[in-house]
Amino acid sequence: MNILAFESSCDETAVAVVRDGRTVLSDAILSQADMHALYGGVVPEIASRKHVEAIAGLTDQALSDAGLTKSDVDAVAVTYAPGLIGAVLVGVSFAKSVAYALDVPLIPVHHVRGHIAANYLAFPELEPPFLALAISGGNTLIVDVRDYTDMAILGATRDDAAGECFDKAARVLGLPYPGGKPMDALAQQSPGGKYTLPRVHVEGAELDMSFSGLKTAVVNLAHNAQQKGEPLDAAALARDFTQAVSDELVPRAMEAARRTGRRTIVAAGGVAANSIIRGDLERACRQAGCRLYLPPLRLCGDNGAMIGAQGYYEYLAGHTADLSLNAYATRDLDRG
Ligand code: ATP
Ligand code: MG
Ligand code: FE
Repeated sequence: MNILAFESSCDETAVAVVRDGRTVLSDAILSQADMHALYGGVVPEIASRKHVEAIAGLTDQALSDAGLTKSDVDAVAVTYAPGLIGAVLVGVSFAKSVAYALDVPLIPVHHVRGHIAANYLAFPELEPPFLALAISGGNTLIVDVRDYTDMAILGATRDDAAGECFDKAARVLGLPYPGGKPMDALAQQSPGGKYTLPRVHVEGAELDMSFSGLKTAVVNLAHNAQQKGEPLDAAALARDFTQAVSDELVPRAMEAARRTGRRTIVAAGGVAANSIIRGDLERACRQAGCRLYLPPLRLCGDNGAMIGAQGYYEYLAGHTADLSLNAYATRDLDRG
């Protein structure tokens, strides 16, 4: 089954063709990050307009890269939530028109379910059940993936997402948007151990996380240093910050594994590209005797292929939509 998949929830316009949920036939993507970098973050209105400009051309490209024509498309999948509402709406509207024109099923896909499903593309043997640590720009979740479309949220951030925290801390350190990748490179230049940053414990909800205090601590450290005219060891701060994020995520993922008895852990989302977090997850899983799946870097960030992968399993579960499908800025992933 060839699924034509659309992703437009943030600042990447992406169109892919995926066969049977596992094989990427094409994966066309246009990032707007350079444009938004001028403003230090995503400007929603600009994002929507850029999606409108890019989506038709990328669709042609995805089909020709796959060596297919429109008549080879068996279904259309699209991110319908969560994300910037105007941006998601562009993908949903376009996908609806394509599904209508080609007279094929329309499959709504939750963006974070897509991030998790990116792993199906890299690891043919991977099947639920497993635990997913979904860490991205707008979401930070520990998810029990009981089946391809049956998921329960075990833990979540109470405030900022991990990626958002990376981007804000990076901005304070003078790094360009999106800050996660340059922060990773900077952190590797220092052994750290210089700055004391907060660790959070949510009483009675040990699998929940919080990143806003960490973000504020980095902002305060940078401002205080500036006011006192003291030099800031940016590499050490990047390292200590990343370690604090990792310490928030990794032990909780392991605790969730212990509580549920799951022996397989899957990382997902843009922050899963972080080298320190990947290393910490590898060590922790080795010690606990858990199997770990780390997506290749190109499948961590937003892409269309991951929507095609999850779309296949949503289709098998009967989760299709008619042309009344709407876009949503927020939507729990356990609701589908
Ligand atoms: P969501 O998926 O929650 O809707 P999003 O789609 O904007 O949000 P992703 O594309 O999955 O998020 O990931 C982008 C985030 O990942 C950004 O915050 C970015 O800074 C972060 N990121 C990318 N690479 C790294 C890295 N190496 N280390 C840490 N963070 C990273
Ligand atoms: Mg992006
Ligand atoms: Fe994303």
